[in-house]
Amino acid sequence: MEMKSGNIGITTENIFPVIKKFLYSDHDIFLREIVSNAVDATHKLKTLSAKGEFKGEMGELAVRVNIDKEQGTLTISDNGIGMTAEEIDKYINQIAFSGANEFLEKYSDDAAAIIGHFGLGFYSSFMVSKKVEIVTKSYQEGAEAVKWECDGSPAFTISAAERAERGTDIILYIDDECKEFLEENKIKELLDKYCHFLPVPVIFGKKKEWKDGKYEDTAEDNVINVTQPLWTQSPQGLKDEDYKEFYRQLYPMSDEPLFWIHLNVDYPFNLTGVLYFPKIKSNTPLHRNKIQLYCNQVFVTDQVENIVPEFLTLLHGVIDSPDIPLNVSRSYLQSDANVKKISTYITKKVSDRLVSIAKTDKEGFEAKWDDLKLFIHYGMLSQNDFYDKASTYALLKDVDGKYFNYADYKELVKGNQTDKDDTLVVLYATDAEAQYTAISAAKQKGYNVLLLDGQLDSPLVGLLEQKWEKARFVRVDSDTIERLIPQNNAEVEEVSEDDATLLSSAFKSVLPKIAGAELHVEVANMSAEAMPVCITQSEYMRRMKDMSKLQEGMAFYGEMPDMYNLVLNANHPLVKDMLESMKHDTAGTVEPLMAELRGMRARQAALTNLQNSKSDDAEAKEAAEQSKQIHQEISDLEQKRDEALASYAAKQEKMSQLVDLALLSQGLLKGESLSQFINRSVDLLG
Ligand code: ADP
Repeated sequence: MEMKSGNIGITTENIFPVIKKFLYSDHDIFLREIVSNAVDATHKLKTLSAKGEFKGEMGELAVRVNIDKEQGTLTISDNGIGMTAEEIDKYINQIAFSGANEFLEKYSDDAAAIIGHFGLGFYSSFMVSKKVEIVTKSYQEGAEAVKWECDGSPAFTISAAERAERGTDIILYIDDECKEFLEENKIKELLDKYCHFLPVPVIFGKKKEWKDGKYEDTAEDNVINVTQPLWTQSPQGLKDEDYKEFYRQLYPMSDEPLFWIHLNVDYPFNLTGVLYFPKIKSNTPLHRNKIQLYCNQVFVTDQVENIVPEFLTLLHGVIDSPDIPLNVSRSYLQSDANVKKISTYITKKVSDRLVSIAKTDKEGFEAKWDDLKLFIHYGMLSQNDFYDKASTYALLKDVDGKYFNYADYKELVKGNQTDKDDTLVVLYATDAEAQYTAISAAKQKGYNVLLLDGQLDSPLVGLLEQKWEKARFVRVDSDTIERLIPQNNAEVEEVSEDDATLLSSAFKSVLPKIAGAELHVEVANMSAEAMPVCITQSEYMRRMKDMSKLQEGMAFYGEMPDMYNLVLNANHPLVKDMLESMKHDTAGTVEPLMAELRGMRARQAALTNLQNSKSDDAEAKEAAEQSKQIHQEISDLEQKRDEALASYAAKQEKMSQLVDLALLSQGLLKGESLSQFINRSVDLLG
């Protein structure tokens, strides 16, 4: 007997094609919607029973999911409150649509937005079904079972039905194109994903047992969920091991977490959850999207970007809130006031927790710092408020593995590492092995060297230079030790310009070729005790190259070769000797060229003067002509000089040896150059 038929109350002529077509991408969520309706119905019954409005037996409350391959149906059954025919009419038929067309047009590519906006939970079943039936019997005394059916057109029918017990069956006649939803594995996967922590037992078939070479059903129901997950329990009753165990359940492959925060708020919004600080190893890919978002224990998403600040997406764990508008579009989330409040709250909690751990367990905090720093640096770099708090406990590690907080560190190095302009010079290494020579030179001077080898250390250096007053960070090998922290020291001897030219020209000629790198020679006036030769790399260029790896639009720097300076200490006895011998041995060839060059330069200077003072066009032109000619002559002479020096230098094994040693100390000597160096060393020993 047909009791009622009609059209579903929507203004859009036919919602189903829309549901099917536009909601395509998020197909899977239909099961979440139907199962959570079943859970809600069960809860409502519990509430009614608690209030005394339902006096019958509740029995064992559960939701059952069954596949019937022959019928081609997927059925979700509950023994909750059920519905009367009037209730079906009210809750299922009369979907309140206002401005539906407009909305559908706007959000046609955002399935979640449509479903959420209209409370279309139940109707999402039409994404995968050609026909849906509801067979239901209300908890109310004397209620009759009813059946509602609809084949995907706006027309529906309601008729009397058979159902012995209170509750609801939602029977989905799965579409031919969606046959995967009749596969046990597929349904199991969806239940595991969305329903794993639902508060009511969800039963999917029977537990299986390995028997006679295959799995067989046992008599026991297969409950797929944990009804009271850890975050819903009171923190007082929980031990560390419980938190670790829960973490293992969530992320079976992960290392033990460093620590965790149990979130529990009910005002001004509702939020529970547990956030874990995972071990984040430097220089490994970051794992985002590990936080799972739940709404009353229903899994919603692990894309939490808009709900928590970006750096918090590095944390793991669970957030559960009925106050986050779950089924709406991402852009909407960003502007939602509740979401903003929640985000601020979580950030504050995380920040407070770190402050308290750093305070109460200094040693433990130091021990965990290396695994934690990436997260904290990320926070400091992305949020000013977070920086302010974190800068009180964030640590710096030196090359000897000692930890300092910022204030202590500044205090430690202030005396020794302030330069003549009153700027604090913080020295750091990025690779303690490779920069060993420079580090030990700095240590000999009594300087401290930090180890900054983390993924975010180069932007952090930039940030700290901004935040700390009068401070500058320089990598320990970016200049000679004397010049790293310029102080008003006793004067050192200065080499003449000509001598500097001779040295740099000769040494340039013996530089080996290094792939991907460019070497320059610089002559410096250092103390006699300093190394005769060292390699430095400009702080600026290196930073730009480092940044280019992290930031788009800086690729230009990334493509440039590494630039190194070979710095010769003109005051070192060895270099002095070399210069003297060179001058002596080349007196016949190079000295006359140098004399001629001096003369040419003087003439050129005079000509330039003349050019500038002449107002007469013709005369100025004449001077310019001459100047051009002299310029050419100078460069010819320079070339001759360089050739003479090169042929001299080619015979000076010690020169090459010195250069190669400096390169070797930086790990820059490779391939043919390295083997030449080894052969030469053997010769020199012989
Ligand atoms: P929402 O759950 O957001 O209200 P739905 O379209 O999913 O929207 O469901 C509409 C209504 O239908 C529910 O509010 C509930 O009153 C009723 N309903 C759906 N499923 C069941 C069920 N299994 N048992 C009892 N009532 C149900």
